[in-house]
Order: sequence, then structure tokens, then C-alpha cells
Amino acid sequence: AKETGRNTFAFFQQDMQEISDRRLLHEKSLHRAVSKSEFEVYYQPQNDAEGAIIGAEALLRWHDPEHGFIPPDEFIPLAEEIGLIHDIGSIVFNQAARQVAKWLEEGVWQEGWRISINVSPLQFLHPNLLADIDDALRESGLPASAIDIEITENVLMADSELALEKMAQIRKLGIHLSIDDFGTGYSSLKYLKSLPIDRLKIDQSFVRDLINDPSDRAIVMAIIAMADALDVNVLAEGVETQAHLDQLKSMRCFTYQGYFFGRPMPAAQFVELCNKHQAH
Ligand code: C2E
Ligand code: CA
Ligand code: CA
Ligand code: CA
Repeated sequence: AKETGRNTFAFFQQDMQEISDRRLLHEKSLHRAVSKSEFEVYYQPQNDAEGAIIGAEALLRWHDPEHGFIPPDEFIPLAEEIGLIHDIGSIVFNQAARQVAKWLEEGVWQEGWRISINVSPLQFLHPNLLADIDDALRESGLPASAIDIEITENVLMADSELALEKMAQIRKLGIHLSIDDFGTGYSSLKYLKSLPIDRLKIDQSFVRDLINDPSDRAIVMAIIAMADALDVNVLAEGVETQAHLDQLKSMRCFTYQGYFFGRPMPAAQFVELCNKHQAH
């Protein structure tokens, strides 16, 4: 057992070294990535109970020329740490707004659909956020009402007063607001009541075992009931199977996102998906 312990520790140390090497490498390349804009927005459809598209979530991809594809879960936290998240946020807003405005013009994107854009807590509280969004809207000509900003409950942690004020300002612009990963963050039932939000997104961790795990089912049911009581929409994430869909429908959740409907995909592929839907 002792032997195993030591090996485990050595392994752990090596692991940590690798992680920090990788980090340093990434830190340098992330600066370059921002200046050269090596980012691509992918689009994942959001669907209603009939399977119709109701919008998409913008999910960022970084194609590093040396190290290949780096997932957002890895570079977003790093970007926050080294102060690049605001530049990256602007890139996402500009790219997505321009793309969706073009699609609207071409008739690919339907009026009433929403493009969901992730905004991290740090980004959300930054004084330039509204100006950046405004720039993206004016430059693209996209109406504010086509945008849905996804924030997590954690925005309330640092400065809840400021966060509430920001939310109100965003809503005043006509932009929609969703709470992402609902149920996993800083639980704030106290605030939830007063939050100017349109939608709760049920975290995929509760959906994954929905069929077999009664406690996940109870949680999802509670979230749906709460959304109903607060008069906000509810969307389930991580819908991967027909069984997930059927279960959610029976629980009166009628909007979804997940591999069952489509993975996050490049813009060109999203156009194909929309065309296929229109053909039906
Ligand atoms: P998120 O906002 O919760 O996004 C949903 C994640 O779940 C995405 O991972 C998506 O690819 C994945 N997903 C969607 N459907 C399914 C499904 O049916 N099954 C499973 N297992 N997974 C599914 P992705 O694209 O790797 O993004 C990870 C996280 O990175 C996002 O989580 C979000 O927090 C962050 N992120 C992505 N793009 C941006 C961005 O532009 N700005 C900021 N601030 N964060 C971003
Ligand atoms: Ca999200
Ligand atoms: Ca989420
Ligand atoms: Ca997440």
C-alpha cells in the first residue's frame, strides 16, 4: 500500500508538472491567439418540443496552430486569470452578431430565434461589457432582442448589487438573460425571485441520469416547478436521447439543447442544418 502511495504521489507530481508546462505554453499562445483571432464560434441548435429550431448557443473554439484544438473549459479559466477574457468576449460577440445578422438577411436565421452567448462572471461585472455589446450590435445591425446572454448564478457571488444592476441594464437594452448551469452554482433562491431573467437552463449533470436516478428527476422537477412559479422559461441541456426528451416532455419542459438535436458545429454546417429543417 505504501508503494502504491508513493507511486501515486510521483505520478501526481509529474502530472502537475505537465499541467503547469502546458499552462505556460497556453498562456503565451493565448495572447497570440487573441491578436491573430484564432477563434471560431461554433453553433449548437436549441429546439422546441416539435423539434423546430428556436435559436443556438455560441460556443467558442480555439484552433491553436501548434497544439491543435484546445477546449474552452481549459482556455476560458486561463483567459480570466491573465486578463484576456474581455478581448475574447468581444471577439465572440462580434463574430456571432455579424454571423447571425447575415443569416437573418439571408433567411437562414428566423425572426424570434435567439443566439445565446456565454458571459463569465468576471466579464459580466467588467465596466466595458455594455459598450462592447453595443459596438457589436451597431456594427452588425443585429437587433438586441436576438441576443440572449447566459450567465451563471455565480455572478451574484462577488457583488450581487452590481450584478443585479447590470442585469437590469442589459434587459433595458432589449437583450434576453438566461441563467446557465442552473442548480450547480451559488444557490440564491433569495435573489432568484427578483432576477430580471427570461430563462433557466437546467444543467446537463441533472439530465444525464434522468431516467435512472430518482434524485436527479426530483431536482429537475423542482427546477421546472420553480421556473413555472417565477414565470420564466426553462431549457434542458445535455439532451442526448429520445428517452431524455420524452422524460423532459412528460415533466413539462419544452425547450432543449443537446447532442440529440445537434452538436456544436461550424457556421457552414449550421446553415445546412437550418436548410434541412426548412425543407420539412
Ligand atoms: P456551457 O455553457 O455549459 O456549454 C455547454 C457545453 O456542453 C458545451 O461544451 C457543449 O458542447 C456541451 N454539450 C452540449 N450538448 C451536450 C450533450 O448533449 N451532451 C454532453 N455531454 N455535452 C453537451 P463546450 O463547447 O466544450 O463548452 C464548455 C464551456 O466553456 C461552456 O459550458 C461555457 O461555460 C464555456 N464557454 C464556451 N464558449 C464560451 C464563450 O464564448 N465565452 C465564455 N465565457 N465561456 C464559454
Ligand atoms: Ca452556456
Ligand atoms: Ca450550461
Ligand atoms: Ca458549464
